[in-house]
Amino acid sequence: MKTAVTGFPRIGEKRELKFASEKYFKKEISADELESTAAELRIRHLKLQKSAGIDFIPSNDFSFYDGVLDAAALLDIIPERYKKLGLSDLDTYFAMARGYQGEKGDVRALAMKKWFNTNYHYIVPEIEDGTKIALNGTKPFDEYKEAAGEGIETVPVLTGPFTLLTLCRYTGSTGRKDYLEQTVKAYKEIISGLGKLGAKWVRINEPSLVKDLDEDNIKFFDDIYTALLADKGDVKILLQTFFGDVRDIYSEVTKLEFDGIGLDFIEGRKTAELIEKNGFPKDKVLFAGLVNGKNIWRNDYSKTLGILDDLKKKGLNIVLSTSCSLQHVPYSLSFEAKLPDDKKKYFAYAQEKLSELNELGKLADSASCEGDEAFRKNRELFETERDCRDESVQKRLGEVKESDYTRLPDRQTRQKLQKDRFGLPLFPTTTIGSFPQTADVKKNRSLFRKGEITKEQYVAFNKEKIERVIRWQESVGLDVLVHGEYERNDMVEYFGESLEGYLFTENAWVQSYGTRCVKPPVIWGDVSRKKPITVEWSVYAQSLTDKPVKGMLTGPVTILNWSFPREDISISESISQIALAIRDEVLDLEKNGISIIQIDEAALREKLPLRRSDWYSEYLDFAIPAFRLVHSGVKPETQIHTHMCYSEFTDIIPAIDNMDADVITFEASRSDLQILDSLKECNFETEVGPGVYDIHSPRVPSVDEIVSAVRKMREKISDEKIWINPDCGLKTRGEEETIKSIENLVKAAEEIRKEAAR
Ligand code: GLN
Ligand code: ZN
Repeated sequence: MKTAVTGFPRIGEKRELKFASEKYFKKEISADELESTAAELRIRHLKLQKSAGIDFIPSNDFSFYDGVLDAAALLDIIPERYKKLGLSDLDTYFAMARGYQGEKGDVRALAMKKWFNTNYHYIVPEIEDGTKIALNGTKPFDEYKEAAGEGIETVPVLTGPFTLLTLCRYTGSTGRKDYLEQTVKAYKEIISGLGKLGAKWVRINEPSLVKDLDEDNIKFFDDIYTALLADKGDVKILLQTFFGDVRDIYSEVTKLEFDGIGLDFIEGRKTAELIEKNGFPKDKVLFAGLVNGKNIWRNDYSKTLGILDDLKKKGLNIVLSTSCSLQHVPYSLSFEAKLPDDKKKYFAYAQEKLSELNELGKLADSASCEGDEAFRKNRELFETERDCRDESVQKRLGEVKESDYTRLPDRQTRQKLQKDRFGLPLFPTTTIGSFPQTADVKKNRSLFRKGEITKEQYVAFNKEKIERVIRWQESVGLDVLVHGEYERNDMVEYFGESLEGYLFTENAWVQSYGTRCVKPPVIWGDVSRKKPITVEWSVYAQSLTDKPVKGMLTGPVTILNWSFPREDISISESISQIALAIRDEVLDLEKNGISIIQIDEAALREKLPLRRSDWYSEYLDFAIPAFRLVHSGVKPETQIHTHMCYSEFTDIIPAIDNMDADVITFEASRSDLQILDSLKECNFETEVGPGVYDIHSPRVPSVDEIVSAVRKMREKISDEKIWINPDCGLKTRGEEETIKSIENLVKAAEEIRKEAAR
């Protein structure tokens, strides 16, 4: 059986692309040097796949920042304000991704959103009235040729027109339908161009098909592909879907003239059933996504082979594939020197997944698996008990009562008590938690990890940092302070390391956005808290000042969503276990004099099922109670904050309010504060700090800009409820820009207070 990979991680096994790009941003290397690192990585990855025996190897899955942005740039979907800067193509591209502030002008970055249900983010292309969609680049051709030059035949991958036009933001009077013709024409040119270079297949990614689709969407899809596939020439077209099943559009998809269809059998709960009920056309190739591109547990061979067997019995033409791009898993277990073998054997990263594909492909063709060494080893993993249960965790979970999910008294009563206790001014200012993780901070942590400095030295350094940042926050005039999170590499891994049941890795990096990578820990077994995690740092920070310093925790939903989850128990059970562990930490902080505790749920929105019908039953019905379980035990006058990244939660505002926090801060600046209307409509009770500037970009917001953002908030939210803060933590920023930005933020708050007093 042939095998296919949907996409390969591109950042590099040692994050080479990240480091090269960052050097380029700092003007330490030239564009040519950056390009050459990129080419080296692409070729290395192609060769890896080739030598693993993969038949359908992708090209054009590389990106300097994001694949959706690549598609936009390729099709000339570039807003005038970026073109006007007059930069090189590469720098125009980076200006859209990161914003630009320099001698040629000052423009903000395009919006960034979560890529479906992953922790990867895409750049939202913007279509304005003047936009004309037309082929305006050579990236897919160049990368195809580059691979061919190495003797590797590839399948160029394109972000599909339906998904692209659906994800774009339309700032003028037009909508996606107005671009159908131009877009189809451009894709036809790309496909025929690739055909001329020798490409036999082109893969068109259409993940938007796994969402709820109404008639209008189905018709739009149909219109695009009827036109695109008309007299389509020799190049075979593979329609690729992932992150779910295509239940709303299965019959249309299978009727159109595609040569291959890629379906996800991992997250596509109904994929097998759709095929069973409706059949699958014999003249098309089914690319069966059975090797999980999102999690790192080994594939259960006998289960996978069972599914393949059923499909073969139907006489289908099958290629075994990954369920989605492997960019969502790390590179290779071979960089995990510290993970013991008896654990390692349960895992497969991208490179090991290539072997899985290869082994499974062979096993699928052989008459019997008996006697096959790979099969035997795999069976052993799934047939023997894994050492991961903890009776005491099970027992405690069983004892949780209904009342443990409700904090008393009600929020309005608490808000009054808290106003008296803290005496904060109107429009209190705060930050989200972290301060810049400068080189010295990272070095201190890494020296400690390597055992090159003592624990005392490590702690002393951090304490000095904390003292400096507390003094600075006092001097600049912030109202609610933070300790800066210098002890944390990452908001999830840090907690994972202190929790029983977690495994952590050395090199399991996964791209989150642009050059930012995260290293999700692995939930291995039942989770509990061994000992206090953050208490010492918070207590120290609070001892330095009379202003409140927020205790800073990560919530259970985010911890789970940013970890590699177990596959042997439900997500809901895992979240409850984590909730109890974090509850212990919340109560310890309170006991030690911390009066404001922020429980970050940065990733709450992320795992919201892609289909609305699943939102509550498959997620919110256990995610929101888990959050309540974490904080329900605190005193009324203790103030609970939460923070969420990405304000795309317009539709679930009642659920967010139901988390029953006292204050929530969230990202809003990149989406032009659209969410404010919905907060007003829903009578949102929680106090809110919609971020007043974008921290994902190095530019410094002016006082005026912040003032006008707050003015917009005041139109929709009452003054007593508004907080003023950046839209996320500052750890990825430089010190200089942070200082200037926060100074401006505080000045803006002072101006707004004057306005409000008039
Ligand atoms: N408290 C965290 C920080 O400030 C929150 C990060 C996040 O929302 N992603 O870094
Ligand atoms: Zn955030």
